[in-house]
Amino acid sequence: MMSEWKLSEAFPQLPWADEADQFCFRILEEKTTIFEQLAACRIAKVAAHHGVCLGIITARKSSFEIRINIYRDLFEQMYTLGHEIGHTFHLDPDTHHSFERFPSVAAQPGIDSLVEDFCDAFSMKWVDANDWQKVMSFIEQIE
Ligand SMILES: [Zn+2]
Repeated sequence: MMSEWKLSEAFPQLPWADEADQFCFRILEEKTTIFEQLAACRIAKVAAHHGVCLGIITARKSSFEIRINIYRDLFEQMYTLGHEIGHTFHLDPDTHHSFERFPSVAAQPGIDSLVEDFCDAFSMKWVDANDWQKVMSFIEQIE
């Protein structure tokens, strides 16, 4: 099964990768709902984005808000949601600083593109852990 590979092995430079692995493992074990998973990541809202980019994540009042471009293909929306959830493992919801909790990481050259790669990989693992039909049902009700 695809979800058996570890983000912490693919991204040993990122100290939050292990936590992301555990998060995906709990989805498999406990069969948590998408809503429960969003709450665990302090994501208060997922809404439609009417812009050019695929998705965005913002923070306010200690929680995150994700917006997904609903004009894109449904599968693209699904992996965009996973990608943005991936960002919650390193972003600070209070300051919206990327590496507040991981100062040693901030200085690494090429860290921003590495984090984008991590979020893409997390998204694949997350969709796989949930079963894509479950994620798709969630995506279809975003407004
Ligand atoms: Zn990103």
